[in-house]
Amino acid sequence: MIRDAARDFAQRELIHDVIERDTHATYPTEHIKKLAELGFMGMLVDPKYDGGGMDTVSYVLAMEELSKIDSSVSVIMSVNNSLVCYGIEAFGTEEQKEKYLKPLARGEKIGAFLLSEPEAGSDATSQHTKAEDKDDHYLLNGTKNWITNGNTASTYLVIAQTHPEKKHKGINCLLVDRHSPGISVGPHEDKMGMRSSDTHSVMFNDVVVPKENRIGDDGFGFTFAMKTLEGGRIGIAAQALGIASGAYERALKYSKERKTFGTEIANHQAVAFKLANMAVKIENARNLCLKAAWLKDQQLPYGFASAMAKYYAAEIAMEVTTEAVQIHGGYGYVKEYHVERLMRDAKLTQIYEGTSEIQQIIISREILK
Ligand SMILES: Cc1cc2nc3c(=O)[nH]c(=O)nc-3n(C[C@H](O)[C@H](O)[C@H](O)COP(=O)(O)OP(=O)(O)OC[C@H]3O[C@@H](n4cnc5c(N)ncnc54)[C@H](O)[C@@H]3O)c2cc1C
Repeated sequence: MIRDAARDFAQRELIHDVIERDTHATYPTEHIKKLAELGFMGMLVDPKYDGGGMDTVSYVLAMEELSKIDSSVSVIMSVNNSLVCYGIEAFGTEEQKEKYLKPLARGEKIGAFLLSEPEAGSDATSQHTKAEDKDDHYLLNGTKNWITNGNTASTYLVIAQTHPEKKHKGINCLLVDRHSPGISVGPHEDKMGMRSSDTHSVMFNDVVVPKENRIGDDGFGFTFAMKTLEGGRIGIAAQALGIASGAYERALKYSKERKTFGTEIANHQAVAFKLANMAVKIENARNLCLKAAWLKDQQLPYGFASAMAKYYAAEIAMEVTTEAVQIHGGYGYVKEYHVERLMRDAKLTQIYEGTSEIQQIIISREILK
């Protein structure tokens, strides 16, 4: 039912203006409102905090369906659910959940996760943003880069360094109101893909954050970020899966319609074998995503599985979307047929929430233990 609801929403609501929103990099305000009304913006959150109470397997199914059509929408949903809501629900205090989690889970407010900096992406330990301890509050200074929901979010989860001498063990995560004095947001990034998601740098200049807004103990921030990203990667893996399966479904349909040399192109073995390879890769990616989600739902360790799912799904998303463009020939190279957009969107899944190389580091460390 959840998969069908997400599919129905994507195929009926997202499809009609997805090309226009991509072209003009327009934020999908109305679509996000409807997604909230359907309960998807906080679908993983416990109903006692106003969420949908659904499991991670359901989340993968929903993410796949939405991403077949529009990954700009699915990344907004993914950051809200699996980074921000999850982070507060798993590690926040009851007061933080009451004040911040509930409106996020209802989708009335949107959250953003601020880890990356101009000089700290893959090497997230090297935080230059400072959260100085001023006894009853923190004073936040620094710049965050590439922040999804950077302008639309009301609630920021900001990772910052408090005790530089302790390196990554001195980092904290703070809940920050977007409209606090001293916060400024840079211009919308003009991106290759996922163009209608909202990506900005965010600057902090002497921003006062109350002590009670720290998540967990002093120095828990880096562990918090890594643990949260373990789950976030399942969302991005499912997004990559959706991008791949969306492109494959279009290529399959097109191959049965387009004729060359007196027959449908699907009857040329070179095309049929491409489709076979795409189908196998997608099935593998789906199984990896569902396994990682299932492990998380069973409260079993899932970091290794989520790194595998994210790495594999992102890689095959790039391969499958490239083949989908190829199967469409010249038509694949223009916007009307959607596959060029899916190919541009696929690229980002190899970069954010840990690049493919970082996933390989996580996987190889585990197998070489
Ligand atoms: C559209 C978009 C949205 C994003 N949204 C968010 C967000 O909401 N919040 C947030 O905090 N961040 C966000 N990011 C940031 C994203 O997570 C980083 O861009 C990503 O982690 C890579 O960091 P970097 O760009 O600094 O690249 P770098 O870390 O500089 O990496 C450059 C290259 O070197 C490789 N590399 C680096 N170190 C190693 C190594 N040890 N071994 C092998 N290869 C290595 C990388 O894989 C990559 O290919 C977003 C990025 C984009 C583009």
